[in-house]
Amino acid sequence: MSSLDATATAISRPHAPDLIPGYRLEKLVGTGGMGEVHKATQLSLGRTVAVKLLSQQLAQEESFVARFQKEAAALATLHHPNIVSIVDKGSTASTYYLVMEFVDGPSLREWMRTPQEDPNETLRVMLQICRAIEYAHNRGVIHRDLKPENILFDAQAGDLPKVTDFGLASFLEDTSTRFALTSTHVAMGTLSYMAPEQKVDSKNADERADIFALGLIFYEMLVGELPAGHYDPPSRRKSGLDPRLDGIIANCIKQLPADRYSSVTELIRALEPLAPNYTTVRPAKLSRMQRAKLAVKRAVRVLLQVTATLLVLAAVGVLGVTWLRNTERRVPMTPGAALTAELGPASAQKLAGRLSSANGEPRKVSLGEGADQPAVLVSGRPLTLDDRTLVFPAVEGQSRVGVMVLDVLGLKGDTARLSARVNARTPESDTLLDLRPLIYGRPPDPETALMLVNNGRNRYIALVYNGAGAPLRLEWNLGEKQGAMLGADSPDGPVELELNIDEEGVLVASVGSKGGKRPIAEPIHLGLDWQEKHFGNAPFPAFGCIEGICQAEGFTYQVRHAPPPTVTQAPEPPRQQTVRTSAPAPARRPATKAAPPKGKRSK
Ligand code: ADP
Ligand code: MG
Repeated sequence: MSSLDATATAISRPHAPDLIPGYRLEKLVGTGGMGEVHKATQLSLGRTVAVKLLSQQLAQEESFVARFQKEAAALATLHHPNIVSIVDKGSTASTYYLVMEFVDGPSLREWMRTPQEDPNETLRVMLQICRAIEYAHNRGVIHRDLKPENILFDAQAGDLPKVTDFGLASFLEDTSTRFALTSTHVAMGTLSYMAPEQKVDSKNADERADIFALGLIFYEMLVGELPAGHYDPPSRRKSGLDPRLDGIIANCIKQLPADRYSSVTELIRALEPLAPNYTTVRPAKLSRMQRAKLAVKRAVRVLLQVTATLLVLAAVGVLGVTWLRNTERRVPMTPGAALTAELGPASAQKLAGRLSSANGEPRKVSLGEGADQPAVLVSGRPLTLDDRTLVFPAVEGQSRVGVMVLDVLGLKGDTARLSARVNARTPESDTLLDLRPLIYGRPPDPETALMLVNNGRNRYIALVYNGAGAPLRLEWNLGEKQGAMLGADSPDGPVELELNIDEEGVLVASVGSKGGKRPIAEPIHLGLDWQEKHFGNAPFPAFGCIEGICQAEGFTYQVRHAPPPTVTQAPEPPRQQTVRTSAPAPARRPATKAAPPKGKRSK
């Protein structure tokens, strides 16, 4: 790993950046630990954008490229007025780039240089930053490098603060990935705003590390400098501050994460009463005429609301309570947990399918067509086969979750690949005037998943698709190993999904077919003997559905045996062919990599 100076934040530009097709770089506007940011023109639309270029030195290092890609993936999952939005990403001959909306205004660092007369203005900015981070956390993204330099003000949008630089972001409990942060990355964060636990073990820092950084930033915004040691509470340092801020800031910057607010939502709840007139964008001053118009509008709105409530109450009686019961039964859970929850007795079914073998052993099962009749177990909702496609049709008044598990007893190998072309959609309403969404809110979006599950269905890996626009989700619960990662937004369905585990136990979830296939998240290392270790035995492929209509076409599960280990050691004395050692077999090593030179032992 490179020996980057921990104090260096800027990287000198070795040579001019390459041309980026479709963009014209106008001006260097910032440099940071990862490279440089240019103001640029997006030629197709003639608009101003910001192009962030990874430094060419860092582009040589896999971990930095991964971090850069992760920043793009994080930004792609976030659409929020207080978060810089991503426009594009790509690579040139020598490096990688991200294109973002251009935020034309000072950073929070510069903003703080001008003393704020109005404490409400400071509170407004604090709350907007909180909203951005609350939103990111709710979408599974932890920023991990919050500091005044990474918050920019959009002057044209009424000084709207926007959080940027998700270069150190992590996705939920993503502790097992290959590109988990190393000490070099930690040094690249800004130590002054870093939570104590993040300094020690960056990988395991959670949302509360961001809350710590927020507390420090807010203290600095209010007081003008960072708290140190036994610091004075803000209201003692600066007159005119609400003393309730003292406790709030203290609750953010507690040394132990367990002593801090457990979520940004809690922090917002504490802050909001201090800014009762707060609205997202500072309102412009209104004329008397405008105020009168507003009062009339408000009166009309109240009248409409009362009428709507009365209508709704009447409609509840008309429609009965079936829907209500279903809604009540819905417990907020992650999709993977919902799909592996108890769904009642399973029914065995035989479906058209095809079984193929290699060397006399079964290796591949596909469902949909063929003369073989593979057995499946279906629970929760009924499953049908419609023109070679597995379908969980829309249901009314039954469990909203359905799972099909394919019985693959006898299908054993060292690798596993599960793929299908899936879709999930909301059924069209059969009644002309459907009042249910009005009464109970829009039903949740349907979700479908390809999964590998154990026999007891309490361990799983699930690749979840929930319609165009929402991010793809990889979720796993393998006993002590649990987590989830969000990928980029999924394309319009149907989409090709694939879960692939190679002989070294590296899991890659991907979307798209052949040429357009791309991983949705970083690889997860399950390790050799991944089947026994995590599933107890060979896992079962499954197809799950939550809400709506779910389809899977070309559902295929395939296993392979790792090629026999290549001989890499110095020649040993010849053994008798029949002799087998009773010692545990050495871990299977694949022969996919070039064998190390003779005489050198692989570790
Ligand atoms: P790094 O990861 O290298 O710290 P940042 O994303 O923080 O990179 O960008 C470095 C600097 O570039 C920022 O501090 C800011 O001044 C400027 N900058 C970053 N993103 C934008 C943007 N979208 N619009 C305008 N300026 C930006
Ligand atoms: Mg930065």
